[in-house]
Amino acid sequence: MALVLIVEDNAANMKLARLLLSNAGHSLLTAVDAESGLMLAREQQPDLILMDIQLPGMDGLAATALLKKDPSTAAIPVIALTAMAMKEDKEKCHRAGCDGYIAKPLRYAELYAAIDALLLKYKRATVAGPTS
Ligand code: MN
Repeated sequence: MALVLIVEDNAANMKLARLLLSNAGHSLLTAVDAESGLMLAREQQPDLILMDIQLPGMDGLAATALLKKDPSTAAIPVIALTAMAMKEDKEKCHRAGCDGYIAKPLRYAELYAAIDALLLKYKRATVAGPTS
């Protein structure tokens, strides 16, 4: 179980993500835009962030780049949620610093697998070396 921040502006997608994550036993924080998502990430230090790419105002790629530049949030894994399915877009997500990438519509098995893999990786990284 982890504390997961969902940044998603679409109400139906948010509802589905909340349902899937709470069924998996995770605690949730939610934001409907990048700016409030960034604030929550800094204040609440979630274990993982699900970041919609297409957001009003600042998009999810710009928000992820800011998270990864900020030492207080750089270590939090970010999974991009996107309707885009082009290879070029996947590369843009990785360049922005996203740790994972999921194309919408969300499928529970894929979502759970991506989350579990990153939480495990993050815990291993924390155990393996000193954190600054
Ligand atoms: Mn959106």
